[in-house]
Amino acid sequence: MSKPTISVTLTTNPKPRPDEKKLVFGKYYSDHMFIMDYDAGQGWHDARVVPYQNISLDPAAKVFHYGQTIFEGLKAYRTKDNRIVLFRPDQNWERLNKSNDRLSIPAVDPEVAMEALRTLIKVDHEWVPSEPGTSLYIRPFVIATEPQLGVAPSTKYMFMILLCPVGAYYAEGLNPVPIHVESEYVRAVKGGVGNAKTGGNYAASLKAQEGASEQGYSQVLWLDGVHRKYIEEVGSMNVFFKVNGTVITPALNGSILDGITRKSVLQLLRSWDVPVEERQISIDELVEAHRNGTLEEAFGTGTAAVISPVGALHYNNEKLVINNNKTGDLSSRVYDTITGIQSAVLPDPFGWVLE
Ligand code: PMP
Repeated sequence: MSKPTISVTLTTNPKPRPDEKKLVFGKYYSDHMFIMDYDAGQGWHDARVVPYQNISLDPAAKVFHYGQTIFEGLKAYRTKDNRIVLFRPDQNWERLNKSNDRLSIPAVDPEVAMEALRTLIKVDHEWVPSEPGTSLYIRPFVIATEPQLGVAPSTKYMFMILLCPVGAYYAEGLNPVPIHVESEYVRAVKGGVGNAKTGGNYAASLKAQEGASEQGYSQVLWLDGVHRKYIEEVGSMNVFFKVNGTVITPALNGSILDGITRKSVLQLLRSWDVPVEERQISIDELVEAHRNGTLEEAFGTGTAAVISPVGALHYNNEKLVINNNKTGDLSSRVYDTITGIQSAVLPDPFGWVLE
C-alpha cells in the first residue's frame, strides 16, 4: 500500500506537561491522538491526527456489549543525542493483526499504522520525556462501533493511538516482588483468546489480582486451565525461570501471549550461549527445583517493566523464596542490556531499534 494521507489538526489549547520526575503509568496523555475509521465496503479511511478529546459512541456499539476490541502496547525513548526511537514496533503491528484476526476485526496495514504513529509522535515530540528511565508509552487499539446488538462481527470500527509519558519503573533499581500461585481462577485456555491482546483477558484477571493484592502479593502466577499445573504467565507478563544454569520459559501454546520482550530476552540469551528451553514447566517441577536448591532466578518480562524479578512464590501455604529475595545476576544483565539497547546507550546488534 502507498503511504496513507494523514490529516493533522493541531490543538489550540496545549496542556501543561507533567513534571518528568513525577510521571505515573497511564495517567497523562499527550495533546493529540490518532484516529482512523472502518466501514464495511469502504475499508479503513479518514486517517487523522486530532487534538486529544472524548469520543462519542452510540450506547449500542458492539464494543460495550461483546468486547470486540484489541490493543497493543509499546514504547518510544528519547536518546542522549535527542533522537526519538521505537523498540520493535513492527512486532507490535504483527501481533495487533493476529489479535484482530482472532477477534474477527479487519486487519490494519502495518505501514499505515507505522506512518500514523510516526506522524503522531512528530506532532507530540515534546511529550517524549528525557529523564533517565522515562519513556513514552504508546497505546494503539481498535474498538467495534456498530450500534447493533446481534452477536456478529461489527461492520464499523475505530483504530486509535494514544501517547502517555511514563516514569522510570524502578526508581531505586530492580525490585523483586512476591507472587501468589493462583489455583482457583485461570487466565485463558488453549482455543480461547489468551494469545490475543483483547480486553476480556484483562477483565477476567482482575478478580485473582484483587485476591492476591489483599494477601500482600504483587501479582499472580497463572497456571494452565486444563491440568491446573503448568505455568503460563505472571500477571500480564511472560515468565522465565533459571534452573540449574538453564533458562526455561513456557512454550507458546495458544493460551500464552507472544510477548515481544519474551522474544527479545530469548534472542539475547541465545546470543550469550546461555542454555534456553521453551517448554512446558509445571509448578511441581519448580517446587522440586526450589527444594533441591536449583531454582536460581525467576523473572517476568513485559514492555512496562522490561524485567520484573520474582522474590518469592506463595503456593499451597508454602513460601518459596528465590535467590534470597535478591535480583539475580542474569536478570540484572538482561535488564541492563535490553534497557541499554532501547535507549541507544548500548549498540543494537539485533536491529531492534527504529527511528
Ligand atoms: N502477557 C500479557 C498477558 C501481556 O498483557 C503482556 C504485555 N503486553 C505480556 C505478556 C508481555 O508482552 P510484551 O513483552 O510484548 O509487552
